[in-house]
Amino acid sequence: MSKLSRRQFTSLAGVSLAAAAAPLFSPAALGQAKPRVVVVGGGPGGGTVARYVAKDAAGAIDVTLIEPQREFTTCFFSNVYLGGFRSFESITHGYQKVARDGVRVVHEWASAINRERKHVVLAGGARVPYDRLVIAPGIDLKWDSVPGYSEAAAETMPHAWKAGAQTKALTKRLNALDDGALIVMTAPPNPYRCPPGPYERVSMFAHVLKSKGHKRSKIIVVDAKANFSKQGLFMEGWEKHYPGMVEWQDPKIHGGLIRVDPKTNQVVTELATYKAALVNVIPAQTAGRIARDAALADQSGFCPIDPGSMRSKLDANIFVVGDACIPGDMPKSAFSANSQAKVAAMTIRADLTKSRAFPARYANTCWSLIAPDDDVKVGGAYEPGDGKIKQVTTFVSQRGEPAALRKQNYQESVDWYAGIIADVFG
Ligand SMILES: Cc1cc2nc3c(=O)[nH]c(=O)nc-3n(C[C@H](O)[C@H](O)[C@H](O)COP(=O)(O)OP(=O)(O)OC[C@H]3O[C@@H](n4cnc5c(N)ncnc54)[C@H](O)[C@@H]3O)c2cc1C
Repeated sequence: MSKLSRRQFTSLAGVSLAAAAAPLFSPAALGQAKPRVVVVGGGPGGGTVARYVAKDAAGAIDVTLIEPQREFTTCFFSNVYLGGFRSFESITHGYQKVARDGVRVVHEWASAINRERKHVVLAGGARVPYDRLVIAPGIDLKWDSVPGYSEAAAETMPHAWKAGAQTKALTKRLNALDDGALIVMTAPPNPYRCPPGPYERVSMFAHVLKSKGHKRSKIIVVDAKANFSKQGLFMEGWEKHYPGMVEWQDPKIHGGLIRVDPKTNQVVTELATYKAALVNVIPAQTAGRIARDAALADQSGFCPIDPGSMRSKLDANIFVVGDACIPGDMPKSAFSANSQAKVAAMTIRADLTKSRAFPARYANTCWSLIAPDDDVKVGGAYEPGDGKIKQVTTFVSQRGEPAALRKQNYQESVDWYAGIIADVFG
């Protein structure tokens, strides 16, 4: 191993490392006494940190990205795919360019973190030592938060809150519905990834039904919350584009979600029992398991961070970015994850190469498509304050805006998508 060139080593991306002697990735073994950064999770959070550290350190830091999937389908824009506005291929991306840009990509699960010895254990048994570790595993679904639901039940009642096969399954079921169908969505309690996501999805359900000429189909949202992101804008849009089709119920109306039954496709609330043609269950969420197993999460199930650096409050050598962290006033979004990742990357470089760190600044915008060319947005700028990432400015679309502005919002979201994909995947 010690004779391997960097090029040969990079070409190991994706091979099983089970048989290899640990520590496989020690730069010292490669004759490179470089500091080592290891990133767990190749989504918008982890992918951005890996690429930014590698690019900005210009070879001075050894960067390894651990991500089991060879292809990553983005949750962001998956609703737009569901609505028929994008192809599945256009929201699915590979890691070839990431590897070309100097990041060692290992397609395996990280199964454990040894914080004392500072190494990550891969599913195959190999150990990957680090000087700084970035944890970005996204969320896990709390299956038991909805009685009757389970990982197996997701085959018949898709959540599609992790993109890929689930997104395809939900889309297929949606497109197979006949007029008169009932769709029931159960929407999750806070905090969860993408606050406006369920309601953009409802809009895309309605758009598909309307485009197929449905006159009698209905969508009921059984929500765990009393209100939701951009509520006034969504309600206005539903009334304008899909009058009478969407019924949103807060807990005061439905009285509580009692259970779902995947065998009969029923959703039982205190108010009524619905026999649906399509049930979309979006359970409550928690930080990805690897973060919780490494004791980086608090009792909330998510990971506390220092708002000036994204450093874990529980381990100075570890950074947590994206959906797994406690982001203060920021929503859990890909935009937020990407923004947090840049702060983490800057801090890590300053730690390891003594480069300059600037004050942390964060930004987010969440766009939501309600109907073709009718897109609304909410967002803000953030910085450390009051012990958290604090919102310092905000903006939100207004009701009754001109169609041209809404169309421009959609174009902005398309441009943003192209930009973040280039940031994460090269
Ligand atoms: C329907 C929907 C619509 C959305 N729309 C938007 C939008 O329009 N705009 C927006 O900004 N956000 C949107 N989001 C939210 C956005 O998708 C998430 O906030 C974002 O993906 C979080 O990024 P992340 O890097 O933290 O986690 P993820 O994207 O979940 O990536 C985590 C990665 O870590 C990997 N991983 C997990 N555990 C391990 C392990 N043990 N070892 C190795 N790898 C591991 C996973 O395989 C995964 O690839 C949407 C979400 C949904 C569900």
